[in-house]
Amino acid sequence: MVQMAETMREAMLYEKLPNSRVRCNICQWRCTISPDMFGVCRMYQNREGVLYNRNYARASSVAADPIEKKPLFHFFPGSSVFSLGGWGCNFHCQDCQNWEISCPEIGEPWRGSKERAKEKWNMHVEVVTNIVPTMNDDDQQLEGIANWVRDELGELTPWHVTRFYPNYHLMHLPPTPISTLEHAFDIGHNAGLKFVYAGNVPGHKSESTFCYSCGKLIVERLGYQTKVVGLEDSRCQFCGAELNFRTFGAKEGGQ
Ligand code: SF4
Repeated sequence: MVQMAETMREAMLYEKLPNSRVRCNICQWRCTISPDMFGVCRMYQNREGVLYNRNYARASSVAADPIEKKPLFHFFPGSSVFSLGGWGCNFHCQDCQNWEISCPEIGEPWRGSKERAKEKWNMHVEVVTNIVPTMNDDDQQLEGIANWVRDELGELTPWHVTRFYPNYHLMHLPPTPISTLEHAFDIGHNAGLKFVYAGNVPGHKSESTFCYSCGKLIVERLGYQTKVVGLEDSRCQFCGAELNFRTFGAKEGGQ
């Protein structure tokens, strides 16, 4: 269990309720919190009818990384990204790969949510599915995810199917077999997705981007080494197909 030092500060976005309860309005959970209890994220606590942030102005992780590590493959390829993370998370995935820096003292079951950043704010969106043996590696689930990405986000949305490694509460499961990732890759393509990438497998042939229209190499990747070889703004420089990239020359909202 990870312990952290607290830096308390009264929260800004909350309402006081009868009987010293409070409602936090910081994220979509809208937690109603009784005295001495915590919100889903464990970072907000009701103390005598006042909601406190337990971790004000503290970071659990600060790093500059290749943007491909996020993974974002179609957003300014080859650039660096600054990551700043705080304690607390409102997802609580059982196979969290960052649990040591995100989830102190948690024990609640996983509960999912889903934010339409692309639709509402025209944000660049790439989807990551960490494939965990016996939990989400069956065809029905993978086809369901691939179809959802195609129908809700569009066929040009990159889908990363990543390799699970034993972590956190799922140490008893084996790493995802490469054959399973490749099967998921095929499921994505059969669903009509144009960009499916196998992640956490450095050197895999699906790391690079090829034009779905003419088949030419567009972005060559090997681990975090990236070389843009066939991109003109957001299009294939060989045949002109739209490839849904964000670059300095591309117009926003390629799809
Ligand atoms: S999860 Fe945390 S931030 Fe979100 S509403 Fe609950 S207490 Fe507030």
